[in-house]
Amino acid sequence: MAKPKTTIDEHGQVRDRRGEWRSGRKVSLEPLFDRPWEIKALLRWMFGFPGMLYPWFAIYMAVIGVSYAYFTPEFAVMQSWDWRWVAEITIRNIVIITLWNGAFHLWFIKYQMQGRKKKYNGSWMSKNNPTFLFSDQVWDNVFWSYSGVLFWSAYECGMWWAYANDMLPFISFQSNPVWFVLAMLLVPFWRNFHFYWIHRLIHWKPLYDYVHYLHHKNVNVGPWSGMAMHPIEHLLYFSCILIHVVVPSHPLHMMFNAFQTGLGPAVSHSGFDEIVFGDEMALQTDRYMHYLHHRFHNVNFGESNMPLDKWFGSLHDGTPEADAHFRQVHIERVKTQQAKAEGQ
Ligand SMILES: [Zn+2]
Ligand SMILES: [Zn+2]
Repeated sequence: MAKPKTTIDEHGQVRDRRGEWRSGRKVSLEPLFDRPWEIKALLRWMFGFPGMLYPWFAIYMAVIGVSYAYFTPEFAVMQSWDWRWVAEITIRNIVIITLWNGAFHLWFIKYQMQGRKKKYNGSWMSKNNPTFLFSDQVWDNVFWSYSGVLFWSAYECGMWWAYANDMLPFISFQSNPVWFVLAMLLVPFWRNFHFYWIHRLIHWKPLYDYVHYLHHKNVNVGPWSGMAMHPIEHLLYFSCILIHVVVPSHPLHMMFNAFQTGLGPAVSHSGFDEIVFGDEMALQTDRYMHYLHHRFHNVNFGESNMPLDKWFGSLHDGTPEADAHFRQVHIERVKTQQAKAEGQ
């Protein structure tokens, strides 16, 4: 008997033959780059919930504020290389990622606090699967994520040493309040601009086969999958921190850049459309765009606050029309490759 095309799961969500659930909501890009500007949409995006400022930006500000004030060595100490302050920063980052990723993991995966409600993929994380290190997807992802923390910490320590030795262009809130605030707001845009190009680069076949394949072993993603990358990808991915070598900034900007790069992937790879608290409250994570990248590979290289995918024709908005379009693109590509091969 043929398998039915769709099934209704335990939460009343329609799942296709592969067990995938689609929110029915189009992947939406943030309105900053829309023309003409729609003031209402812009205000809703900036000050709404969830929006540009709440809750994630505010949470990051709290995390970096506490880390800067209480868990970062004095400048005088960081003027010369010493393993003790390097270890202090590395351990601080290991503790933070363990608490952050661990919290998402416990909620979504370990204790399945919301079951499969709003979960894109119908399956749970892979076990007894030799594709992954230790034949276990979660432990594979955890291993590579901690490898990533070493790169995050190495970049961060390099920057702290340079700040402490007055080698970097420096501003403070007192000296440049407007740029201080603006630069903080621009960090997520810079990160995603940088990520888009790095990401396109590692989809170039030789680099994909050697480096980025490791991240894409995760078709069904979980919070720890985000930073599960090959060390060369970590090296490229965290290089966004180097912007502060040329752009006048305060170490807090550098910290926001580094922390969001290190912690953001847990949210963008949660695999869930919303964090659901009971029957009444839900927080949209809206990471369908990147989930579709894991599902289809050649779409959605960037994130929703940068319309680069839209400009370069790789935006999959999650609709059946986009499915049909990219299926056609794929068929054309295969035909071209075949024609080339026959011509040789
Ligand atoms: Zn990913
Ligand atoms: Zn990719």
